[in-house]
Amino acid sequence: MSKRLPIKAATMRKLFLNSGGRCAVEGCPTPLLDPAGGWGGTVAHIVGAEKDGPRGDSDLSAEARRGYDNLILCCAYHGRTIDDPHSGEKSYPVEHLRKMKERHESRVNEAVNQAIEGEKAGAQMAPQALDVSPNRLITNEGVAVG
Ligand SMILES: [Zn+2]
Repeated sequence: MSKRLPIKAATMRKLFLNSGGRCAVEGCPTPLLDPAGGWGGTVAHIVGAEKDGPRGDSDLSAEARRGYDNLILCCAYHGRTIDDPHSGEKSYPVEHLRKMKERHESRVNEAVNQAIEGEKAGAQMAPQALDVSPNRLITNEGVAVG
């Protein structure tokens, strides 16, 4: 049996960024970073990290098991339920986790893109709001002062 390999830092970084720092389980409102900066998340393996763990019965290599495509970011609660030795595999089969991760990352990407596009559209409607030259202060009403 192959040995469980630690997840690489670059893989973790990609997972955190593409997940928007949010639990990938549908409808989960738990922020992964609390206001004080405490970490409340975990990374779960889609195909189990080990052969005898939840969803572990697979020919996937140890290297692929720790790869980006096999990992899902979630809150501590969902990490425990996904990896529950009795119900984890039944409640969260491999394909379900893969789809959930894919949908979550796509929603995060869309939301960020929409926010950026919305900001650009707003700036085009009120270009004077972008005038930040030091000798020219413009108020919200568009009146120049100073
Ligand atoms: Zn969660």
